[in-house]
Amino acid sequence: MNNAATTPVKQEVFESMKPYFAEDYGNPSGFSNFSERSKDAIEKARDTIAGLLGASGEEIYFTSGGTESDNWALKAIAFANRKKGTHIITSKIEHHAILRTCEWLGKAGFDVTYVNVDENGFVDSKEIRRAIRSDTILISVMTANNEIGTIQPIREIGTIARERKILFHTDAVQAYGHIAINVNECGIDLLSASGHKINGPKGIGILYIRKGTVIGSFMHGGEQEHGRRAGTYNTPGIVGFGKATELAQASLATRSTFESELRDYLIDRIIAEIPYSRLNGHKTKRLPNNVNISFKYVEGESMLIMLDQKGICASGGSACTSGSLDPSHVLLAIGLPHEIAHGSLRITLSEEATKEEVDYVVEELKKIVQRLRSMSPLYEDFIKEKKENVQ
Ligand code: PLP
Repeated sequence: MNNAATTPVKQEVFESMKPYFAEDYGNPSGFSNFSERSKDAIEKARDTIAGLLGASGEEIYFTSGGTESDNWALKAIAFANRKKGTHIITSKIEHHAILRTCEWLGKAGFDVTYVNVDENGFVDSKEIRRAIRSDTILISVMTANNEIGTIQPIREIGTIARERKILFHTDAVQAYGHIAINVNECGIDLLSASGHKINGPKGIGILYIRKGTVIGSFMHGGEQEHGRRAGTYNTPGIVGFGKATELAQASLATRSTFESELRDYLIDRIIAEIPYSRLNGHKTKRLPNNVNISFKYVEGESMLIMLDQKGICASGGSACTSGSLDPSHVLLAIGLPHEIAHGSLRITLSEEATKEEVDYVVEELKKIVQRLRSMSPLYEDFIKEKKENVQ
């Protein structure tokens, strides 16, 4: 129930990777036949990944994951375009890989505008238009939010960026392989994606960089990736990411239908059967596997621990922020007060999830919420007040 945090490597993916550990382990940058085999496997994966995005292979650069891709995109675009301007636009609900990079850029002399989102977590493309200045060099807005699943109007934002000749980056870590994305149709110049969100291995990602984009290298060293991202290739990781992409592409339509039906069933049951609960994010324009619900008068951490005791692995905010006591910046940005943001739960399904599992989650959740409320002085006050009002 926590597939937005990470997913298992599928057996077929694992099998595809195996030969590149101990048999075809040659360094792909070498000139032997042995190296060629690794190189060919890498180029095949690159083309598969490019195919899913409507890009060409030469525009795909392998990285160590979504975090590196986001850092590279923002920092290297900022410094390469510094003479043109120093203004960057992003949203308040980006992943910390973007937000903390923007903070860092702020200290390095760049000026960042964080646009607001509405109550469903949508960035308004008109707000983006209003935020543009003559010195704006980059717009970075995520394709879909990792906490509340909201799918952003990236095509509209890409069109505005193109009209104004500003580069457009999107963090598609949660969207890649889950919803269709075409970089040309959406006017995307740079896109980050990660292997471990689509049943690929951890520690591998890509940055799509549109051909002709002026950007510096992030890792300095060897000549790998046209000298733009140095470091010996992670051949098994790349091959696994390629295979996971191929499988994700083949199942995209059926998986999306299956997951969104199960998601809606889960949402409808929770809202109908647990009083004082609310759905966060838009009802339909959300990732097919994402459910995010706030429960009034419930403490989120306790809810997670109790769910865990019942064998249910879910999340409070994103995996990266849980463990911190601060409420999620995403839930605050959509206007939730602190106490409600604290009582929130993210459940992210997979194609392997079953209706029986979802029913089990609802039944356990009902008991847990009731139990936590029975211990809450705030809930007690609320019920007392309610009774008095009725009398
Ligand atoms: N961006 C988003 C939207 C994410 O959800 C995540 C991971 O959860 C990342 C970036 C970071 O990706 P990675 O774990 O591959 O570094």
